[in-house]
Amino acid sequence: MHGSQNITARVLASGLSPINPARDGAREVLPGVYLVELPLPFALGSINVYLVRLADGYLLIDCGMDTEACFQALARGVEEAGAGWRDIREILLTHVHPDHMGLAPRLLELSGARLSMHAHDAEYLRELTQTERYLAWADGVMREAGVTNDIIAKIRRSSNEIHKHFHSLKPDHVLQGGEKIAASVGELEVLWTPGHSPGHVCLYGRERRVLFAGDQMLEQISPNIGWLPDRDPLGEFLESLRELERLEVELILPSHGTPFSGHREWIRKTIAHHADRCARMLAVIDGAPKSAAEVVNVLWERTLIPFHYRFAVFEVLAHLEYLERQGRVTRIAGESIARWRMA
Ligand SMILES: [Zn+2]
Ligand SMILES: [Zn+2]
Repeated sequence: MHGSQNITARVLASGLSPINPARDGAREVLPGVYLVELPLPFALGSINVYLVRLADGYLLIDCGMDTEACFQALARGVEEAGAGWRDIREILLTHVHPDHMGLAPRLLELSGARLSMHAHDAEYLRELTQTERYLAWADGVMREAGVTNDIIAKIRRSSNEIHKHFHSLKPDHVLQGGEKIAASVGELEVLWTPGHSPGHVCLYGRERRVLFAGDQMLEQISPNIGWLPDRDPLGEFLESLRELERLEVELILPSHGTPFSGHREWIRKTIAHHADRCARMLAVIDGAPKSAAEVVNVLWERTLIPFHYRFAVFEVLAHLEYLERQGRVTRIAGESIARWRMA
């Protein structure tokens, strides 16, 4: 994420090779806390899920994608941690993206565990699983953002693939933030950190100064922030970071890449990164009003594959929404394609 790099740029820079190729097995990163890396079929390369020992059994933080490769890697990890499926008492999803929740239905059945997720992501998942309705909505957003019908059709094909990986889930425990989980590493507190998704949560262990960060903090990449209606995802993300900045953290356990430390430095760089993105977008808009697609075409010099183009459009929209709420830009009303101008 350093400098102006963002996830899309980094994925592009890496070509097709995974950023974080998965390593097999379970690594005990703290006493009673196992990191299990699972392979992902896209450029991000891998996802980390965590098995955390409780007084009685284990908590599993995130599940991996519902691919056989993910499932087998997790099965090996659980075994290496000395556990079995039935030892998993609780599954907590940091958020409902497919690489985090995909295997949940299968694991819930195998383990009989209780499922916890934040109320806002439970609601978000209900929308995502109404696939036709959701994708038609996304098409409409992109049309209004000035994306051509040709590109929208291509994006739709890749979105249809991705959306097969969302599954309806009924949480046993709907989180609000502030809940406490008694683990062998001490009490873990649920922190609601919206932005990357509306109901994203982190878990904070005050005793060990450890943060299970989900996709909120990834060492090498800036988490993707997409636009959602009636929300200010970038503003929420930055606010979440300011709250995390106040905590004492020695170890960040992210969902992708290696564990790291130095959360305040990371937060400072990430806030600066988004300020830089905002400044670049303002520079594009300055002079003549632009649609979100026009901003994407200027800021991303290389041709984006449809899947990344969609992320880029929603990322620009999230920044424009934020800038509009800050009184820096104005949306020009009454046009079929929305354009923004300097306020
Ligand atoms: Zn995510
Ligand atoms: Zn993720």
